Amino acid sequence: MAVFRDLAALRHWRQGLRGSLALVPTMGNLHEGHVSLVRLAQTRADHVLVSIYVNPLQFGRGEDFAAYPRTLDQDLAKLQEAGCNAIFTPDDSVMYPRGKRDLSLVMPARSLSKVLCGAHRPGHFAGVCTVVAKLLLMSQPHLLVLGEKDYQQYRVLQRMATDLDLPVQVVAGPTQRAADGLALSSRNRYLTPDERGLAPRIFAALRELAQSHGAMAADLAASAAASLVQAGIAVEYLEFRAEDDLRALSRVEAGGRWFIAARLGSTRLIDNVGV
Ligand code: AMP
Repeated sequence: MAVFRDLAALRHWRQGLRGSLALVPTMGNLHEGHVSLVRLAQTRADHVLVSIYVNPLQFGRGEDFAAYPRTLDQDLAKLQEAGCNAIFTPDDSVMYPRGKRDLSLVMPARSLSKVLCGAHRPGHFAGVCTVVAKLLLMSQPHLLVLGEKDYQQYRVLQRMATDLDLPVQVVAGPTQRAADGLALSSRNRYLTPDERGLAPRIFAALRELAQSHGAMAADLAASAAASLVQAGIAVEYLEFRAEDDLRALSRVEAGGRWFIAARLGSTRLIDNVGV
């Protein structure tokens, strides 16, 4: 497994590659969710490149950029075991050699990026689009493999690829969960034991909501959010939206998806479930 830290080495490897390439971008601290994407990528491309980079551009003020877990040695061992071909682990001087203050940014489509997480994390999706556009231009993959865990991010990046005519196919793999339903996330490690005990209620609520075909989404959301708040889970948003363009849908119907962001103590978790 090749490990590249700088752009010249990555480009040199890329130029000599025959066959198709899939890119799986990550921020490291890898778990079974990330590994499932590597496996999906292996079924769809001849070579798999995983990038590991905690992108400062996509964190807002007061968010967990400094605390975000960085576990490179364990990550490399997991990727080696998964049979990954190559890893790109740039640092800030590789990704943003002229600094971040006066950078050309990729602006995501408003309709997709100003709702849900975008409404609560200003600038987040511009940071995501900018770093992923750079990773795509650096590695020139045929396939970009993302997780449904971050469903809005998937749709924002898919739209970016379309709007910028990037020659890449964007696919998403299903969310991997703990046995009790909690979506695997690097941020789960911030949870106290009590919070970890409460956290599966988030997925349980989504699963129940997804079964209420034909009902008014806003009414269902209000009562589900009230139950979660009662249990000690602060709901940032709980909304039913169309999978393709994230427009709000008033009734629970096929083609829609429930989206939630919630806080347990200081930890912010997101999840989503299709109906
Ligand atoms: P991250 O390292 O959190 O930036 O995530 C990197 C990629 O892994 C993104 O495409 C995520 O959507 C995906 N991912 C994160 N958690 C999961 C999960 N539990 N199941 C499937 N994919 C995931």
